[in-house]
Amino acid sequence: MTDTFKHKGMRKRMLDELREKGITSEEVLEAMDKVPRHLFLEKAFLEIAYQNKAFPIGCEQTISHPYTVAFQTQLLEVEKGEKVLEIGTGCGYQTCVLAALGAKVFSIERQRPLFLKSQKLFKHLHVRVKSFYGDGYAGLPSFAPFDKIIVTAGAPYIPDALKEQLAIGGVMVIPVGEGSKQEMKVVVKLSENEYDITDLGTFSFVPLLEKKEWHND
Ligand code: SAH
Repeated sequence: MTDTFKHKGMRKRMLDELREKGITSEEVLEAMDKVPRHLFLEKAFLEIAYQNKAFPIGCEQTISHPYTVAFQTQLLEVEKGEKVLEIGTGCGYQTCVLAALGAKVFSIERQRPLFLKSQKLFKHLHVRVKSFYGDGYAGLPSFAPFDKIIVTAGAPYIPDALKEQLAIGGVMVIPVGEGSKQEMKVVVKLSENEYDITDLGTFSFVPLLEKKEWHND
């Protein structure tokens, strides 16, 4: 699959829609302009890939809405060269948006088929990402600390391991809540054991599953 003028045009319209919905970071919009979202989806979604919708990506998971990707990424305030940990690689779209911002991205996915498929796509797109098949609740202690952490599945609580692996002054964006709705939380690490937490609205994510709930591998 290639990136045609038609797709570029559809992408521009998606960016206009994101601006209308309140996304103000030009860096984030520029990064989303660089990543051809249709390449992350099955061919059947080619014509509608840039609509503000979530689509199935296999393993009963979904790619996040473009607005959600933009909103979470904007909250992260990524600077070039920062180490960013992503929990829930999925199809790898959000991962590539972070890489387009110049972040050194580490990403964890618990569904092996999605891990393998996204890894192949990163290579194909020449995007440098360290991706891992594993449990997002545990993070990646051997690569910590991270300047930023983004969780792209709904967590029932903020995992301690992720709080620990955040650098002091670092920011984590995580949707927290059980059931179909979560509250988007921005966690700023003030010192080794002090965190400032702000709530920024309700979203709907697939659940961040704990190991005991992994029945389908
Ligand atoms: N950023 C992704 C969103 C995918 S949905 C995208 O744009 O495509 C969330 C992802 O989190 C799913 O792929 C799901 O398999 C994964 N996930 C759920 N629980 C997890 C866990 N404990 N560790 C790592 N990944 C997990």
